[in-house]
Amino acid sequence: MNDQMMYDLVGIGIGPFNLGMAALAEDLDIEAIYFDQKEEFNWHPGMLIEGADLQVPFLADLVTIANPKSPYTFINYLHENDRLYQFYFFNKLDIPRKEYNAYTRWVASKLSNCQFGKKVIDVTYHKEERYYEVIIEDIKRSETHKVKAKHVVLGTGSLPNVPEGFDKYPIEDVLHSNHYLYHEKQLKQSDSVTVIGSGQSAAELFYDLLNDQRHYKYKLNWFTRSAGFFQLESAKLGQEVFSPDYISYFHRLSYEEREEALSTLGPLRKGIDPETLKAIYDLLYHRSAEGNYPEATIQPMTEVNGVEKVDGVYRLACRQWQEDHSFTVDSEKVLLATGYKPHFPEWFTRMHDEIEWEDEKRYKVTLNQQLVFKDGRENHFFTLTNLEHSHGAGATNLALSVERNKRILNTVAGEEIFPIKTNTVFQQFSSKQM
Ligand SMILES: Cc1cc2nc3c(=O)[nH]c(=O)nc-3n(C[C@H](O)[C@H](O)[C@H](O)COP(=O)(O)OP(=O)(O)OC[C@H]3O[C@@H](n4cnc5c(N)ncnc54)[C@H](O)[C@@H]3O)c2cc1C
Repeated sequence: MNDQMMYDLVGIGIGPFNLGMAALAEDLDIEAIYFDQKEEFNWHPGMLIEGADLQVPFLADLVTIANPKSPYTFINYLHENDRLYQFYFFNKLDIPRKEYNAYTRWVASKLSNCQFGKKVIDVTYHKEERYYEVIIEDIKRSETHKVKAKHVVLGTGSLPNVPEGFDKYPIEDVLHSNHYLYHEKQLKQSDSVTVIGSGQSAAELFYDLLNDQRHYKYKLNWFTRSAGFFQLESAKLGQEVFSPDYISYFHRLSYEEREEALSTLGPLRKGIDPETLKAIYDLLYHRSAEGNYPEATIQPMTEVNGVEKVDGVYRLACRQWQEDHSFTVDSEKVLLATGYKPHFPEWFTRMHDEIEWEDEKRYKVTLNQQLVFKDGRENHFFTLTNLEHSHGAGATNLALSVERNKRILNTVAGEEIFPIKTNTVFQQFSSKQM
């Protein structure tokens, strides 16, 4: 980090999104630097469950879609780590989630423009001199540094969404899915575990707990407010909404039309991978054939509205909404697979009145990922966080993050270094093109 120089771009947070951008930026004529508060790169370590796969093909690695010749492709990772032949015989597009993490850690270890253990604690815009001052805390040394940047990019990702009232209990008892592996042993050694939610994480955790139930004998519950345990729509034509063409189409719609579009795309956005659902069902069936198996309650249409500690266990207030029937369930451990919410650093709220908003919580974002400042400044504040309302169903999709990074780097460079391709899928979304 150089306190004296003017960086073209400072990245805040290094998850896969900014890491991919750092990998693409490294060989460009752009002075870019990225900071993360964590000591090292690690992708959702609490959810690197044995046997879990990445939900997108390996081609959605950090760089391939922008530059397949980059040294940071997944294929080059395999090559440099002598795994190409095994991968060739493995013969699958879906790679283990643990391997994606190993690959991204390998990329992070090679990049000189990524700095860890550095938390961005403030960003101020100097209007006259036209630059952002970024204040960074070196966590280990308890020192602060300032760097100057023409542009910044917010890549602070998301935080676990813990329902109100569930956050006051010890994390080893009532925990979010994001912390699962850190407390797995205690969960499995308890008398009863309740999983709440019906997305992919909930299903993966339920399967893992169901699988080990025969060794540990805990009682297992799985509740969801949803009407059922449904699978994600995976038809190939349907998947084309996760394409640059759909994003451009979606972005042109009015805010109301985008909201409406998101609600109609529910089956593509929310649900469980068909393979995970099949594995759960097969396991249940095999166990049922054995006769004497431990108890598992699986119940949809059931919202869990509250929790209190009674006689050493957690009493969950539940309601089957279709029958309007309220009841309680006691559980020693509670596992919340209740999703994530956008993560905004505290200092970001100061910018509230300087930017344009679409509603109370959703800022306006251009197709090239810029926030829209009322003062019309030329120093961009890009965001990779909280984009569903502006960029659609693929807002957190790993492949599309590479596409977003192309646009950001092109904007910073002031030229189309990475060609923006159109007509990339078989269908068209707008009839106005006809
Ligand atoms: C369990 C799980 C599995 C997923 N699997 C897939 C999948 O298979 N396919 C897919 O397409 N998508 C998947 N996703 C969605 C998405 O790809 C991931 O959430 C991805 O990690 C998002 O990357 P990110 O860079 O936005 O943020 P994150 O990975 O959340 O990283 C944000 C980083 O910002 C840092 N940070 C925050 N504030 C500061 C600050 N003030 N200063 C410095 N650093 C800061 C944090 O330490 C963190 O490292 C998955 C999500 C989850 C939760």
